[in-house]
Amino acid sequence: MNTKKDFQIALAKYLSEKDFIYGPEPELYEPVAGFYSYGLLGKAMKNNLENDIRNMFIDNNFFEIEYPIVSPQIIWKASGHLDGFNDPVVICSKCKSSFRADKLIEEQTEIAADSFKDEELLETIKEKNITCPNCKSRFELEIKRHNLMMQTKIGLDTIAYNRPETATTTYLPFKHYNTFFRGKLPFTVFQIGKAFRNEISPRQHLLRQREFTQAEAQIFLSKEQKENFELFKDSQNDFLPLWTQELQENNKPPKIISLKEAIEKKILKNKAYAWSINLTYKMFISFGIPKEKIRLRQHWETEKAFYADDAWDLEIELNSFGWTECCGIHDRSDYDLTQHQKFSKQDLSIRLENGEKIIPNIIEIAFGVDRPFFALLDLAFFRRDDAKRTVLSLPRKMSPIKVGILPLLKKDNLPEKAIEIKKEIEKKFRTYYDESGSIGKRYARLDAIGVPFCITVDHQTITDDTITIRERDSLKQIRLNKKELLNKLEKFFNEPDFFE
Ligand SMILES: [Zn+2]
Repeated sequence: MNTKKDFQIALAKYLSEKDFIYGPEPELYEPVAGFYSYGLLGKAMKNNLENDIRNMFIDNNFFEIEYPIVSPQIIWKASGHLDGFNDPVVICSKCKSSFRADKLIEEQTEIAADSFKDEELLETIKEKNITCPNCKSRFELEIKRHNLMMQTKIGLDTIAYNRPETATTTYLPFKHYNTFFRGKLPFTVFQIGKAFRNEISPRQHLLRQREFTQAEAQIFLSKEQKENFELFKDSQNDFLPLWTQELQENNKPPKIISLKEAIEKKILKNKAYAWSINLTYKMFISFGIPKEKIRLRQHWETEKAFYADDAWDLEIELNSFGWTECCGIHDRSDYDLTQHQKFSKQDLSIRLENGEKIIPNIIEIAFGVDRPFFALLDLAFFRRDDAKRTVLSLPRKMSPIKVGILPLLKKDNLPEKAIEIKKEIEKKFRTYYDESGSIGKRYARLDAIGVPFCITVDHQTITDDTITIRERDSLKQIRLNKKELLNKLEKFFNEPDFFE
């Protein structure tokens, strides 16, 4: 495979054939861009990833809520999405197709245009002779603004919206948090759930969907706590690959810097923010994304939201799309609660121990679950091609099926013995039993869907109760008594590279 484009096509085809991702849906009728389903194996893997995310947040004392997807217009007026959450659109003067202006410029000129104003977009389109990808005609000389929220109705005629992010809906029960946490900041809350964006022409598989899953964690805290965040001292000697605006401008790579140094040199603005970006980085590494594929990119002053005090993205280098934003860490200041206080006409301030009344600031960790999911498959698929076998080298804990069970032959009591072992293991691990075809073909089938371990039952098993266990990536095999099997497997899944 030579180009990113080839890789994208091969990966999408593979993910569909191997039951990870179907779509665009509805496949059975006329597919619509930007809608995908998680297939028989994909959904199982997504659950593994979501459980991992959930556990990481819970381990760090976050509490989970689930807010409705549909909410009335006023919420999105208050949050700023109704007026400000839109994309610039240009329309072809001849075939009338519409395109997202900034993406069009990026595709045809490699100029990053996502923070351009309307006039700049029009100017660039003119200057660089950008034409309609469908019919090569010129565009109409006007930028239209397309709101990305997906509208719906409540009852007969009340306009409402499917949420464009979970974050806003996590802020709304703020008064309940105040009671639950007994008024003692920081309040730590997260949500995992569906969000919707009515993209004009989504074309990047799972990376740009119209319906997707978000995981967003929010820390409500005081300005004073941002500067003196208690948990910071435990992580101050951790290191992060920070790609500052200055390094970006000078075409230099990210620098590995300790949190302590990043605060001292004011690269990161406050300790609570530094702790949050570090938690994010550790989380993505624990999913099984290799360190060398991750960098943390500082937002330029020009691309930051007007209320954002500090903003960085975690980016992953994908084989299919190059460096790709997979998570944002934002210091949202007191913007959100101030807005909701104004529009709801309810008091959302709290009183600190020193008697001072404040509206808390919010630091958020925000990402689409679909992105690390896609990244894991993109990176696993790349490691596959030593000519003879197709292997999906997923991190063990992410694999949808954990253990394959294979009787060497379909006779001599081997299948019965194998099923006995399967029953033992499947209490703890998802297994797949396969007795059809040669052993080599069966290994290949399971390698191709990322099963990390295969257990083979042979004639020796009948006499001494030992089995062989084979590791997917190294092809190493070890023989052990079936009594040790469960313990061993548990160890293998707890230690990502251990096998002996
Ligand atoms: Zn056209």
